Amino acid sequence: MSKSPETILNDIFGYDLFLPLQKEVIENILQRKDTLAIMPTGGGKSLCYQIPALLLPGLTIVVSPLIALMKDQIDQLKQLGIPAVTLNSSLDAGEYFRNTEQIRKGKTRLIYMAPETLLTDRVSGLLETVQVDLLVIDEAHCISEWGHDFRPEYRELIKVGKGLKNVTCLALTATATHKVRADIKKSLGFQDHNEFISSFDRKNLIIEIEKKQDALKQTIDLIEQFPGRPGIIYCFSRKQVDELTADLVRRRYSALPYHAGLDDATRRKNQEAFIRDDANIIVATVAFGMGINKPDVRYVLHYDLPKSLEGYYQEIGRAGRDGQPSVCRLLFSYGDKNKIEYLIRQKSGKEQAAAEEQLDALIKYIETRGCRRRPLLAYFGESYLQKSCGMCDWCLASQEKIIDITIPAQKFMSCIKRSGEVFGAAHIADILMGARTEKVLSHKHQELSTFGIGKDRQKNDWLKLSDQLIDLNLIEKVGEFNSLKLTDSAVEMLRTRQTITTVKPRPQRSLFEENQPS
Ligand code: ADP
Ligand code: ZN
Repeated sequence: MSKSPETILNDIFGYDLFLPLQKEVIENILQRKDTLAIMPTGGGKSLCYQIPALLLPGLTIVVSPLIALMKDQIDQLKQLGIPAVTLNSSLDAGEYFRNTEQIRKGKTRLIYMAPETLLTDRVSGLLETVQVDLLVIDEAHCISEWGHDFRPEYRELIKVGKGLKNVTCLALTATATHKVRADIKKSLGFQDHNEFISSFDRKNLIIEIEKKQDALKQTIDLIEQFPGRPGIIYCFSRKQVDELTADLVRRRYSALPYHAGLDDATRRKNQEAFIRDDANIIVATVAFGMGINKPDVRYVLHYDLPKSLEGYYQEIGRAGRDGQPSVCRLLFSYGDKNKIEYLIRQKSGKEQAAAEEQLDALIKYIETRGCRRRPLLAYFGESYLQKSCGMCDWCLASQEKIIDITIPAQKFMSCIKRSGEVFGAAHIADILMGARTEKVLSHKHQELSTFGIGKDRQKNDWLKLSDQLIDLNLIEKVGEFNSLKLTDSAVEMLRTRQTITTVKPRPQRSLFEENQPS
């Protein structure tokens, strides 16, 4: 009897439960349907093919652009007793030969390959001699020119996929807009119903955008918020990475640089140091982090504007994989935007159009007033319905803004009391405003001590206050005329002269004060 995906999850990988969509994706593959799975970074994409690899009779090929990470993955699999090999350009002839022998003799379950390796004649010859059941295209957004990381060789993979007989294809990506998604499916000839998209909301990330003013000071502020803890700082250019690293090191912070201008050995050394906590801070270009799995990154700072909303999402996604609250802060200035626009104008044709579109989406996100999660998740096709996430700069700012409404509340409630607790909010407001309406005069309410004591506010403010007091359970509406009555807790509050507060959403500060787009 063959094992179930659950048994393999428990017995081999040692996990109790599937993460969202893992099971669905695995079952779809086992039914030999081509599948597109869109899951956020850290969502557990690897298991989606590692488990089928153990259940399908034939081989599984995993195509990934990240050669540096293949070795880690293979070492992890070997520790679990799962035979896996890699074929890529970094292997010496001996290793390459040994690995192909393993494949030929059927002694492996998974082969990890760079896309260009899969495209070589040598490999296609080898694959003709074995049965491949599953072709995994990791980082599948690289197929699309609309994605943030287009790689032409990915387009070629499609031909290889079609050349393999009876192969099921799994495309995986952490970021995909509708456009990229459609592009991937079209390129691979997938059916709609085999698409699985998990929620992109990472609830423990505190998402913030701050106006870039004194960037170094703002950087240090964030570092000091998490002293000695791991953090990633993204810069736009290599030069900026080097300068900021030097600035931080001069101030005795343990920071290391990471960018494509450094040699491989240095890059690897710095990355290792960060992962092993020998260095707290990595200052990097976007070259850093693909596939990095460090669970306790406490903050991600975008010192400069990211290249796209997708890239941004992926970069902030490296924070807080352990589920603990983590800060993702972006320093924004219109100067940085202009710089990027200038660079985009140097590009041409479709590349320029795609870059422009990405920048527009990013700026739109930054300029949206209100909860950050709403526009961010909307970009990935998700509606965020909650009023406030409580975990972004907007929502946190509105929470902090506590207003003392004791005095107006006392006025409003005593007016209710004195007029006999039989009138609605509009009439109470009229009395407070000193309005000589027919109703006020007919009840002789102009003689009440509360008549006209509320002229300092607008009628609308009193109506709003009425709702707030209802929310606070200090007054209640009763009967068909919505007469207002004080609750027991109101009577108690008035007696003990307690302070009554409410929270008020406050308009976003700083970012828009200058250079505000019209
Ligand atoms: P992704 O490739 O989507 O970024 P990974 O496959 O690297 O994610 O998985 C992220 C982390 O989650 C890894 O540490 C992995 O071991 C862990 N993980 C994956 N599946 C499960 C599961 N079902 N239960 C618990 N942890 C899991
Ligand atoms: Zn929010």
